[in-house]
Amino acid sequence: MDDCVFCKIASGQIPTKKAYEDDVLIAFNDISPKAPIHILVMPKFHIASVNDIQNIDDALLGKILKLIPKLAAMLEIDMSGYRVVINCGENGGQSVDHLHFHLLGGRVLTWPPG
Ligand code: AMP
Ligand code: ZN
Repeated sequence: MDDCVFCKIASGQIPTKKAYEDDVLIAFNDISPKAPIHILVMPKFHIASVNDIQNIDDALLGKILKLIPKLAAMLEIDMSGYRVVINCGENGGQSVDHLHFHLLGGRVLTWPPG
């Protein structure tokens, strides 16, 4: 989508610090980290939110989910623990309408979230 900031990241129009990239997905540092480790993982093609997850190929979804613990291990937060978050819609606090998974770690994360 032309006006989507994450599509621009996926296409390389907006630079980011990448943790992983392949032909279908990308993981990169959040520009405004909420924890010492804060990575966003997302499909490269535009999908607005988890409400539209039926439109994602099962294999791609599995690939995204399986990448997350690999990143956690690479960033050495797998043993200390971490959180995976998908915000959805206004009440869920979603600010970018391109489906993405937050990987947060490197500190104790409180529960419940605000
Ligand atoms: P959410 O609020 O769940 O939609 O998450 C969107 C996240 O994208 C926020 O944590 C922002 O800090 C992050 N973000 C917005 N623009 C950029 C960007 N250009 N590069 C990296 N992260 C971004
Ligand atoms: Zn997009």
